[in-house]
Amino acid sequence: MKRRDFIKTAAVGSIATASVAAPTIVSAKTKIKWKMVTTWPKNFPVLGTSANKLGQLIGEMSDGRIKVKVYGGGELVPALETFDAVSGGQAQMGHGSAYYWKGKVEEAQFFSTVPFGLNAQEMNAWLYHGGGMELWKETYEPFGVVPAAAGNTMVQMAGWFNKQINSVEDLKGLKMRIPGLGGEVLRRAGGTPVNLPGAELFTSLKSGAIDATEWVGPYNDLAFGFHKAAKYYYYPGWHEPGTTLEAIVNKEALESLPKDLQSIVMNACKVVNQDMSTEFTAKNNAALNTLVNKHKVDVRRLPDDVLEKLKALSDEVVQELAGKNKAAKRIFESYDRFRKQVIAWDNISEREYLNIR
Ligand code: CA
Repeated sequence: MKRRDFIKTAAVGSIATASVAAPTIVSAKTKIKWKMVTTWPKNFPVLGTSANKLGQLIGEMSDGRIKVKVYGGGELVPALETFDAVSGGQAQMGHGSAYYWKGKVEEAQFFSTVPFGLNAQEMNAWLYHGGGMELWKETYEPFGVVPAAAGNTMVQMAGWFNKQINSVEDLKGLKMRIPGLGGEVLRRAGGTPVNLPGAELFTSLKSGAIDATEWVGPYNDLAFGFHKAAKYYYYPGWHEPGTTLEAIVNKEALESLPKDLQSIVMNACKVVNQDMSTEFTAKNNAALNTLVNKHKVDVRRLPDDVLEKLKALSDEVVQELAGKNKAAKRIFESYDRFRKQVIAWDNISEREYLNIR
């Protein structure tokens, strides 16, 4: 009897307390402090500021139950050690792009971008509804890391050139800053890809140490002032047709959260994924207008035969990546199957529409 009364009182008591004082008690008890390390310079336009937004959003959506402190590259760990820091639990979250970890997992490159691959909309479709996300999770599973798409640059520009590109011949001997798979493609076309840190790009281009550089798109490029160092601005960005940015979460940290907070973290990534694409579209459009009308930049399309050559070489390079190991082959097969199908659909939908409007 005594015991039953006690339980009854305790239950009533806890309900009564919950209805009045629960919010403060819960938030005081469960306030969780997370660190997010990133590959971007602190507050880097769109890329870095989106990581900031992600941290802020998780705080707001959880009503302060999780507080995320965001670090620029080099603040807590060097930019390219972001993945290791999240995997090792030094930080609970990270923001970057999968191709930065290619030294660790070569096939991760399929989850950022590959030359002549999927654009932003198609990448999201493959990831969310075409089997890509499951493969991405599997790829990071051995590292105790959970990935999420958290932004997209949209199709980039081919870059800034001080030499005209009128034929495949003009690629021969071209010294260009272009990292990753795109760089390998340029090398096979007879060019010399160089990898320089962002800080050295402007002077290298201006002094003639390099003939060309790719960066992102009009908004980031205008901020960098590349129009003061190069004559021609070429499109399209064949090498980065829709680079996916990623948030990575330490699996153990994620799974230690209650279910609602886990959902908040993962869905906040989805919000930022969408938000970055729209921000880039809006800002690139305004910046292109400034580059063309104010700075009189000479915007040019790469010639068809050059693009065809680059495409043939890209197919080779991507096939080689697919042949690196079993996992790479599985990811490539899924990606390639999706790519072929979506091209057929896009050809009679988006492409036709863009052509007629
Ligand atoms: Ca780029």
